[in-house]
Amino acid sequence: MSIEDVILPSAGFPPPEMGEPYLLTPGPLTTAAEVKHAMLKDWGSWDADFREMTASVSAQLLAIAGDKNSEFDCVPMQGSGTFSVEAMLGSFLSKDSKTLVLVNGAYGKRIVDTLQYLGRAHAVIDKGDYMPPRGDEVAAALAADTAITHVVLVHCETSSGILNPVQEIADVVAFAGRKLLIDSMSAFGALPLDVNTIRYEAMVSSANKCIEGVPGFGFIIARKSELEAAKGNSHSLSLDVHQQWVNFKKTGQWRFTPPTHVVAAFLEALRLHEAEGGAPARLTRYTRNRDVMVSGMRELGFETLLKDRWLSPIIVTFFNPAHPNFSFNRFYELMKARGFIIYPGKLTIVDSFRIGCIGRMDEHVMRRVVAAAKETLAEMNVDNAYPPEAALKERARLAA
Ligand SMILES: *Cc1c(COP(=O)(O)O)cnc(C)c1O
Repeated sequence: MSIEDVILPSAGFPPPEMGEPYLLTPGPLTTAAEVKHAMLKDWGSWDADFREMTASVSAQLLAIAGDKNSEFDCVPMQGSGTFSVEAMLGSFLSKDSKTLVLVNGAYGKRIVDTLQYLGRAHAVIDKGDYMPPRGDEVAAALAADTAITHVVLVHCETSSGILNPVQEIADVVAFAGRKLLIDSMSAFGALPLDVNTIRYEAMVSSANKCIEGVPGFGFIIARKSELEAAKGNSHSLSLDVHQQWVNFKKTGQWRFTPPTHVVAAFLEALRLHEAEGGAPARLTRYTRNRDVMVSGMRELGFETLLKDRWLSPIIVTFFNPAHPNFSFNRFYELMKARGFIIYPGKLTIVDSFRIGCIGRMDEHVMRRVVAAAKETLAEMNVDNAYPPEAALKERARLAA
């Protein structure tokens, strides 16, 4: 049997290959067989074919962002998503800038940590784990501090799954004449972030989220005027978005060794993205995944951290059940034995776990996830998945 026989079958949403579990995680996530197969070839980084592949990646990402007038450019950057976030912050925030960071979870906090490392002045609005930042409070903060030049927003805060109101924030920031940078890591490619309707200077995402590629690089989509103006800002040689951009324009090449196989896989992922119907179709599938999964889990007694209004179609946080027989580690292992890898919680106050809705899977898979959770609870002798009263009280108090 050749390797192709093992890895290549099928259309639609077949189970992962060779007995792999489904990854119900927000990246790395379950990818299509075609995406994995695209990595079975070596590419020379300097070669014209590979340069063309990189150019095609950038052009397709700019099309997804809706850049009809060529006002933006796309700059791929090696590393995980955080490398690209740090590259964006270090490159677009000049040394005399001051940034308002909108925090409601771990990824917002990571942005604050990054600015501390970079020594860039910043202020913070921290909404805790449960609530989105709102336009009126951002407007008030900008009016009160005229030194603030930039605002940073996390589009979907993957730690809780909260979907932040990006249009509302973008409108307020533009009205106040400040600049918006967006961490759209777990949203871009499914949720709308159209440059024609949402005003921003730069955004960042990565290969292994809603485009459904494998991990290895991120990308920054930014206004060309900002890319131009970013010269000399960066603290870092390798994370300098301006220099990376200049080099792509001049040579079509990455400045340092690119993740060639990952780029090849990403091109295949982009082809599947387009074939599915682009970001709107992907949003429809993920939304359906979420709705089927959440309603099934609620029938078992599980409660979501967030009200429906703020539930993203990307990932959903559930409270751990109050039942004394419940233990997350056991639940995790028994779900894994049934073919599903779930995700631990990342909240600061209450115990929780997360189930992702993104990746190469559809509502039929989500029904099996719910069935597996039901069997798992039975095996653990947990007859009801209802959360502790204290968790619900905490949620009510903070959301009030
Ligand atoms: C995944 C993600 C990141 C980047 O995380 P890495 O582990 O570095 O890839 C950043 N922000 C958000 C909102 C994310 O979901």
